[in-house]
Amino acid sequence: MNGKFFAQLSFFLPLIFSLQTLDYQKIHQQAIVIDGHNDAIQRIVSGEDLAKLTTNGHIDIPRMRSGGIDAAFFAVWVPPYNKSQSYSKQAVKQIEKFKQFVEKNTDQIGILMKFDDFEKFRSQKKLIGILSMEGAHPLEDNTKNLDFFYELGVRSIMPTWNNSTSWATSATDENQKKIKRKGLSELGKKFIKRMNELGILIDLSHSGEQTFWDIIQTSDKPVIASHSAVWEICPHIRNLKDDQIKAIAKKGGLIAITFVPWFLDSTFAKKEKELRIKNSKLIDSVKKDWKGNSLSREFIIGKLLMNEYEKILPSVETVVEHIDYIVRLVGVDYVGLGSDFDGVGIVPLGLDDVSYYPNITRKLLERGYAEKDIRKILGENFLRVLKEVLK
Ligand SMILES: [Zn+2]
Repeated sequence: MNGKFFAQLSFFLPLIFSLQTLDYQKIHQQAIVIDGHNDAIQRIVSGEDLAKLTTNGHIDIPRMRSGGIDAAFFAVWVPPYNKSQSYSKQAVKQIEKFKQFVEKNTDQIGILMKFDDFEKFRSQKKLIGILSMEGAHPLEDNTKNLDFFYELGVRSIMPTWNNSTSWATSATDENQKKIKRKGLSELGKKFIKRMNELGILIDLSHSGEQTFWDIIQTSDKPVIASHSAVWEICPHIRNLKDDQIKAIAKKGGLIAITFVPWFLDSTFAKKEKELRIKNSKLIDSVKKDWKGNSLSREFIIGKLLMNEYEKILPSVETVVEHIDYIVRLVGVDYVGLGSDFDGVGIVPLGLDDVSYYPNITRKLLERGYAEKDIRKILGENFLRVLKEVLK
């Protein structure tokens, strides 16, 4: 090789690179992209206007647009430590706030009530919001309340959050508490059957292992895990073991890989703890004066300490490793994405907020994934499951 060759190569390299860049953006923007889990409703309830570009959190309509998102699951979540009103009243209030937000922006976003709405909203270039319930506590042990929340628009339910319901035990409780009975009770089975009948998606993220297997036995329809990851890569109680991944695939469901750093990298928790001890003065001073919700506070702490977080955070590459593991275990039809944006203060490098979503497509292309398989991972798998479960 001679100097001339290198001169030619250096001329073409930027061109090749920019073509590739163009390619991944094009593939990403044309694909159906569905995110299985976010906590943006909490920010809407705190009074933020997510129709505008915001500097807080990870989600707003402009950033969803640049991230190529078509549809996203918005979680209704009542924390167990908020006892100001009953679970159901708080859940209704959150749904009302979300609906007000959607009604103010009907040209931009719609709520998915039936499966056909998906294509309708997409052809109108609207974002699609899917209401999910994170922890079935607002159902207050009465299956009739399923019909009530279905009417309000809830299309996906997690039987538990970190706290169990009376009829299903959570991953946290099954692992930490000495509980007498694990799994799904008789009442729990009635809930699952009724969800199948109504066309409500059953989401097993946060469920304990026994609950998981009982629901696999009980549900006639595909089930999902909306924001979990792979136990074999990162043994965390919120992640799924190989036989669980296989069981979801066998039912025709999917595992949506989350961006929560603690679930992606098993070394992160320890490093993060050390980071926080080292910076406890700064963290305490932020906490002392903080008036807003705790997630926004964690977001600010993450920003202030970003120089240090950068050294320990997993990256978009790690997310793709989890995707790749599932593809190799059960095939490309049973994996999707479920960020948990606005549900955690810190997120992987290269996935700073929802507008960074195309980086996943770029990484999958770099790994040699075919375009048709990338489209499945980004959203077509989710669409298949929704079609099978929703009315
Ligand atoms: Zn969660």
